[in-house]
Amino acid sequence: MKRLLKPKIYLESVFMINIGILKKYNIKGIIIDIDNTLVPWGAKNINNRAYELISKLKNEGFRICILSNNTKKRVDEFNKDLNLPAVYNAGKPRKSAYKKALSLLQTDIVNTAVIGDQIFTDILGGNRLGLFTILVNPIDTKEFFGTRLVRILERLVLKRL
Ligand SMILES: [Mg+2]
Repeated sequence: MKRLLKPKIYLESVFMINIGILKKYNIKGIIIDIDNTLVPWGAKNINNRAYELISKLKNEGFRICILSNNTKKRVDEFNKDLNLPAVYNAGKPRKSAYKKALSLLQTDIVNTAVIGDQIFTDILGGNRLGLFTILVNPIDTKEFFGTRLVRILERLVLKRL
């Protein structure tokens, strides 16, 4: 179980991502979470910072797919200017959601990374399939009540990894 919860890389923020490292690991595709990874939880629209990061990654040749447990409405709103392939109501850590993202990206398990802020959804799901998992700190502390409880568990797990 411990192996499945441990991210391959841990970053303080998604904005600190090192493109050189992604390239070193031959990453071609990126599956990315929205809430508290790219923008604060509940933020309606994308902001400049997140938009610029995605644009930079795209310009570097990475294929990017949104993978969110949030609703179609939320994902569409966020994605309207980016127009990325996206999976909503993903039910992470369900494997099928990641498989759907891989088929949209047309990349493989060995060259695809997952970026997210939650161990029990983003990271667990990615590790179950053998993807290159990147955990980031959540942007905002304000979030869904259930998630707040999960955070307490996450902190306990992180201490043990
Ligand atoms: Mg999240």
